[in-house]
Amino acid sequence: MSLDASRIEPRPERLTAHEARQRLEHARNTRMTQLQALGESSQDDQLMSAQKTAIERVLKEIEEAFARVEDGTYGTCLGCRKPVPGERLEILPYTRYCVACQRRAAA
Ligand SMILES: [Zn+2]
Repeated sequence: MSLDASRIEPRPERLTAHEARQRLEHARNTRMTQLQALGESSQDDQLMSAQKTAIERVLKEIEEAFARVEDGTYGTCLGCRKPVPGERLEILPYTRYCVACQRRAAA
């Protein structure tokens, strides 16, 4: 018997849509939990609302990333149109840009 016919080649640079969704779901759950924890706290100050705003912004980016998984553009840099490196997507699964373009966008 041969395993070769059914062997799946590893593709380190490209995530499958399934993997991408899993990572995005994980990222979203983490943020939702943080947001909930903030909401349950009785503390209500500027730092708190700044944190909430930051988390809500990330949640919006995550939603946009889900949409990109659907239309097949996920993992492609919106700046240079090249694939975003896999290790960057691991840290920031909802990112739209590669490191170079992100710097340019932030500047
Ligand atoms: Zn780029």
